[in-house]
Amino acid sequence: MFQGREWEYVKECLDTGWVSSVGQYVDRFERDLAAFTDSPYAIAVMNGTSALYISLLLAGVRANDEVLIPSLTFVATANAVSYCGAVPHFIDVERSTMGVDPVKLDLYLKDIAHRNSDGFVYNRITGRRLIAVVPMHTFGHPVEMDTLMEVCEKYNLALVEDAAESLGSYYKGRHTGTFGKTAALSFNGNKIITTGGGGAILTSDEEIAKRAKHITTTAKLPHRWAFQHDEMAYNFRMPNINAALGCAQLEQLPEYLSRKRKLAQRYKEVFSTVDGMEWFEEKKYVSSNYWLNAILLDKPDASLRDLLLAQSNDEGLMTRPIWTPMHRLPMYKHCPQMDMTVTEELEFRVINVPSGPKLIS
Ligand SMILES: *Cc1c(COP(=O)(O)O)cnc(C)c1O
Repeated sequence: MFQGREWEYVKECLDTGWVSSVGQYVDRFERDLAAFTDSPYAIAVMNGTSALYISLLLAGVRANDEVLIPSLTFVATANAVSYCGAVPHFIDVERSTMGVDPVKLDLYLKDIAHRNSDGFVYNRITGRRLIAVVPMHTFGHPVEMDTLMEVCEKYNLALVEDAAESLGSYYKGRHTGTFGKTAALSFNGNKIITTGGGGAILTSDEEIAKRAKHITTTAKLPHRWAFQHDEMAYNFRMPNINAALGCAQLEQLPEYLSRKRKLAQRYKEVFSTVDGMEWFEEKKYVSSNYWLNAILLDKPDASLRDLLLAQSNDEGLMTRPIWTPMHRLPMYKHCPQMDMTVTEELEFRVINVPSGPKLIS
């Protein structure tokens, strides 16, 4: 939905010629994002996947490490781990958030993790270092962060949040993406605000913020004309024209959030009268952005789910299933995993219903 100053800002880019890798909108978008999320630093990049990749690298993920991630996520979470040369290690989610279950993770680690003299925790079975955990705030619903942070502390795991879906979501008053060492946001076309394609890295660590900017902009040393680069790096920067779009979108985010909340309320009223399914609601002490509304069939039933999907899509209603869990995709099915009871149950219970801000005023 582009009803704000998108045309004005993008036109300014075209009129002035600042469409590409430098320009005032990138700086402004980073400042505005940091202010909105109350994160000390935000670094804009070309998409959410690259934001997650750099977030993992800067949190210390190295080749041959294992990174604990939910199996119930969009494939980008697992891919970003692979780009580091690391191995995704799939963990189960809890029903109440559809995100990482920290209690189950704790019990699991008690079983498979052992602490080495280097202070890090290793997987007894594979021998690889368990370096980080990546909670993903599914459809905008925050993961149970207090307990997860205790688990991270206990096992010396870096916390990297995949907050791609949760801009505008808060856990106990604190914005998602500000709990870990680093976090990734996405501004893809389907997300709550869009820059066409885009993402951002959030961090509270000044040193990490500087490095994030440096290695996503070819590690070029500032100089009036010389091309000096001090390490192998990436060209992941967000173009100014995309950032212009982002600035205009961010101005409207409070409006989108209020519409999403109203729409969620309407869905709640309707689905609470329908037998055989429930509407997925936020926990009491969080505030979800309700990026994508979900209904849950009472029982996992693939054929009923598929029937509902077929009928609603025939009627022109864009309903969708949840992602195929990562531990069943061909390139990831051999990776380490824990018991997947809840993930496998949710796979056949969840149906996403249309959630765009245009649906309600
Ligand atoms: C959208 C999304 C991403 C990746 O974002 P892109 O901008 O599309 O690269 C990563 N993780 C999750 C959970 C997402 O929903």
